[in-house]
Amino acid sequence: MKPDATATRGAGLGRLPTLEGANRIVIKVGSSLLVDFDTGRLNRPWLETLAGEIAALIRADKHVAIVSSGAIALGRKYLAIKKDTVRLDQQQAAAAAGQILLAHAYQDLLGSHDVRVAQILLTLGDTEDRRRYLNARSTLETLLDLSVVPIINENDSVATDEIRYGDNDRLAARVAVMCSADCLVLLSDVNGLYDSDPATNPDASLIPLVDEITPAVEALAGASRTSFGTGGMVTKLAAAKICMPAGCATVIANGHTPEPLAAIDNAAACTWFLPSTTPRAARKQWIAGTLEPRGTLIIDAGAAKSLIDGRSLLPVGVVGVEGEFERGDAVIVRNHEGQDLARGLAAYCSADIRLIMGHRTAETKEILGYRDRDEVIHRDNLVLIKV
Ligand code: GLU
Repeated sequence: MKPDATATRGAGLGRLPTLEGANRIVIKVGSSLLVDFDTGRLNRPWLETLAGEIAALIRADKHVAIVSSGAIALGRKYLAIKKDTVRLDQQQAAAAAGQILLAHAYQDLLGSHDVRVAQILLTLGDTEDRRRYLNARSTLETLLDLSVVPIINENDSVATDEIRYGDNDRLAARVAVMCSADCLVLLSDVNGLYDSDPATNPDASLIPLVDEITPAVEALAGASRTSFGTGGMVTKLAAAKICMPAGCATVIANGHTPEPLAAIDNAAACTWFLPSTTPRAARKQWIAGTLEPRGTLIIDAGAAKSLIDGRSLLPVGVVGVEGEFERGDAVIVRNHEGQDLARGLAAYCSADIRLIMGHRTAETKEILGYRDRDEVIHRDNLVLIKV
């Protein structure tokens, strides 16, 4: 059995999670680590070390996704665009050029450890709109299940100021929640959250563990800074705030530490933010409690039994569809006696379910003209209603 993400290490700060205990890890890599400040070029030796550490995680059967910054910084150098330019079109051009350099570097360095990579560029809309969110989620899931490392960045070349994250801390948090990660690592050039500004106060002490982001904790964020990149402590706290209720532990750690990932588990100075639930429970809560159902599926006795046994809902078990809904919408699942059994996210729209209901999964392609999911509701997207 895989260790529980909440597995903790001994002595003193015994409640701290570990990377060793996590199964699915999103690592956010800041520009200040990847790009040499003086030359504006890729810091290849640093990335080589990280690639070795990531390969070790993959060999340990963990799923790893990387949210990497650095495209704009690398692209600026490549296109000889001034460092301090604020023009959006120039930044977008820099991102377009730099992203290729970045992706190649990851492919090359992880490839030397036989680790395969894939690139995903996301916009704010992809993480906010539920249907696009579900598509991005399923692509991520597929890649992670294949032990491929997705290299993710914001699609800066098309995002305009009003509709962009602008910082990869929050994007990484959304990605972590999207793929039900149990750990988000924010690697940058700071050790973590301090009780005052370590740059000006030699007595500032690091806070190793935060289990609630109170206004007092938020007030501390203003006291810390990073030298490069758009983030800073404010967006790191915002990232932790997104992850905590979603069951994902977040750690801020210094990427300049030798072997920074191993160091996290070996008591390096860092700040952990504890989750308040598990990723699975958080997702089920979201489906059961937050989403407004748009329709109802009536199912037969055999399907009802399968659901109770923890299986997915297949087209063959559906006997009726009420309401009009889109793929990805929440629906109620009801038995033929009128009792509500479950809520879930429909993998097909209501019109398509009307066509495929009562049919075996193998027949759906012929009926619909396309092949998609085998299930009408996958068990991961289904929550039984307790009666
Ligand atoms: N997406 C930006 C880039 O790749 C980085 C944003 C950030 O620094 O957080 O250059």
